[in-house]
Amino acid sequence: MSIQSEAAAKPKVERLPPLPPPETVYKRIRKRFHLAFFLAFVAAPFSNLMRFDIPRQRFYFAGVELWISEFSIIFFALMFLMFVIAASAIIHGRVYCSYACPQMIFSEWSQSVERWAKRQAQQRLKAASAGLKDAVAKGLFYTILALASVFLAFVFTSYFLHPKDLLGRLLHFDLVTVGGITGAVVTLFTFLDFTLVRQKFCTTICPYGYIQGMLQDKHTLLVAYQDGEDEAKDCIDCKKCVRVCEMEIDIRNSPYQIECVHCGDCIDACEDILRKVGKPGLIHYAWGENPKVATGQKEAWYLRWGFRDAKRVVIFGIMACYLGGLALALSLRRPVLVEINPDRATMYKLLDDGRVANMIRLKLANRTGRDVKVRLWVEGLPGADLALPANPVALKPGESFEQTVELRAPFVQDGEDVHHIRILAQSDAARKSDAEEMTFITPIKRK
Ligand code: SF4
Ligand code: SF4
Repeated sequence: MSIQSEAAAKPKVERLPPLPPPETVYKRIRKRFHLAFFLAFVAAPFSNLMRFDIPRQRFYFAGVELWISEFSIIFFALMFLMFVIAASAIIHGRVYCSYACPQMIFSEWSQSVERWAKRQAQQRLKAASAGLKDAVAKGLFYTILALASVFLAFVFTSYFLHPKDLLGRLLHFDLVTVGGITGAVVTLFTFLDFTLVRQKFCTTICPYGYIQGMLQDKHTLLVAYQDGEDEAKDCIDCKKCVRVCEMEIDIRNSPYQIECVHCGDCIDACEDILRKVGKPGLIHYAWGENPKVATGQKEAWYLRWGFRDAKRVVIFGIMACYLGGLALALSLRRPVLVEINPDRATMYKLLDDGRVANMIRLKLANRTGRDVKVRLWVEGLPGADLALPANPVALKPGESFEQTVELRAPFVQDGEDVHHIRILAQSDAARKSDAEEMTFITPIKRK
């Protein structure tokens, strides 16, 4: 039965008061992943691992600064990230949602803070009334969440604005400029999201969850409940698996419910209950083709990694080729952009000193993060030079130089009016020089 039709057919689950998930296997593993992905989320914009600098129209990927003119590489880098998530959804189900998604990480973190604040109020205000304890717990929780929202919004907005610039706006309580207003709005949404919405976002607003449901097939990893029939049933109907589930579903109804993010909290919950009566848990991770059999049994390594059919091998091959192509494109890009074009609005000019000049449109752009110098020279025309303010041209990081300059050469009466030349540019950031073939036009006879 398809995931969608299962979702439509399943009975409505009565929502019981939620329980904190048990601190057993998958919860612990997920917390470690959450910490690693949280650190990556915070580090990415500050280390230029991935960042869009909208005002400067730059995209940073794997530490490389890409200009908007290099849109094809930017597009392929973004597409690669999308493919990684889509491939993980096909092979391992919604593990991105439960193990790596910032929405899930901060929703669970905010729930932990809320529980911690309640515990603190209970323990430290033993003699106080229930109302006062509740008010103190709420005050503590909202204060921590407000501070955390400022921090998270700052990190998130740093993906689109330079962090230094953003910090300046934050310290000056800027609520006037677009950057300042954006930061304030993101802070407000972050606060509301992690105090009110949390995992409801995953089952209502987030389109990605439903797209993943469509990507999954019969070999995808899922969470399944397995029990005997009638008297052989081990389930004691304690409903702990239902109460820990933040997606508000009962995994016993079906392993194909579209809301399930494959977090494993219900596995931990059932294990926690049944091991007390000396029985193994009834819920486990399983491969879609056989949800009755838990993962972890003896299987070849490629099957355990999810390569369970030719489709997955093809996906992996495509991803490897894509990554190789992206790495090649990044390694081949020129750190300093050099564009040299003739300006034929004027064919040639005769200078007062007797030389002939052609006009050249020159564009240099430093796409590195350090100062560079670009030296230009001419081959194929003895005595020729470019009328530059300085040669080499010094460029600061991100700086461009764009000018129409004279290419000057002594007048040679050799009967030719077209001379084939090369203009070369060598920057100290590149091993190879850029060379542009062009023609230099002169009159045949001195006028
Ligand atoms: S059913 Fe289990 S694995 Fe699925 S979301 Fe709920 S707790 Fe997580
Ligand atoms: S936690 Fe286990 S025993 Fe309890 S209701 Fe869920 S499946 Fe049954």
